[in-house]
Amino acid sequence: MDYQGLIEEVYHEVQAENLKGKVADYIPEIANVDPNQFGIALVDLKGNVYGVGDHQVPFSIQSISKVHTLTMVFNVFNTKLWSRVNVEPSGDPFNSIAQLEYEKGIPRNPFINAGALVITDALCSKFENPIDQLSEFINELAGETCVKINPDVMNSEKNHGERNTALAYFLKSYKNFNNPIEEVLNVYFSQCAIEMSCVDLAKSFSFLANDGFSIFADRQILSESSARRINALMLTCGFYDEAGEFAYRVGLPGKSGVGGGVAAVMPHKFSIAVWSPELNEKGNSIKSIRALELLTDKLSFSLF
Ligand code: GLN
Repeated sequence: MDYQGLIEEVYHEVQAENLKGKVADYIPEIANVDPNQFGIALVDLKGNVYGVGDHQVPFSIQSISKVHTLTMVFNVFNTKLWSRVNVEPSGDPFNSIAQLEYEKGIPRNPFINAGALVITDALCSKFENPIDQLSEFINELAGETCVKINPDVMNSEKNHGERNTALAYFLKSYKNFNNPIEEVLNVYFSQCAIEMSCVDLAKSFSFLANDGFSIFADRQILSESSARRINALMLTCGFYDEAGEFAYRVGLPGKSGVGGGVAAVMPHKFSIAVWSPELNEKGNSIKSIRALELLTDKLSFSLF
């Protein structure tokens, strides 16, 4: 398979479509990014890296980090986690608070903000220095020191964090939050402010395409069955209220972030990261999703 030729073709076709969206502006520091950037990196299971466009430019991975924190916590708590967070798609925006009240403080899934806050709370319970250990873990997955936390993005989000703070207090009122709220929010805002390039992000997702074994870390990160479960969650919940549409159009397990990145895997074949900052109204990158749709259309195989 000529992956380099394939992603270049996809890249040029998407560029020619001239798609327009809107850069996330509720975190002011993210709104400063050049909206025209666009990159794709694909990593196969031999470790070959293919890239096009701005694939080496670090960007704010935002909610994509929810997959990394879930992986760390899943290894420790395993299925016990599911008494605190469900595994159902929400059909609601990522920062919605509505379901949390009538479902008594149990978030729908670990990828909406409410669920991710529970996961970060669990991370704080088990890891002494959660921010450093998360960075080290992602560096290990990527096979190099690549993670940087952008303090301006972190502070910008903290200063506009009313909704995430409200979610945390709400969870606490249902006794689904064990650590001090400010401490957990600091970790959460830091994980969202991680910057990485498409290349490193795709490498950090490689173990999910490879039955839980990372060729870059050279170890089993998750059991085969746990890796399969994270992929199932990404397929059903990775794109908030657009998860169904992504599964229909693209058909890959993946996770998006409001920085405009999407990381996805084709099990037993490759992992891929695409980035372009302009988002659709559901908070997912317009060009990234279109690129993945074209890519899976052009492939001679699919998940299904
Ligand atoms: N930092 C963002 C938030 O918590 C992440 C949201 C996202 O990427 N969807 O609001």
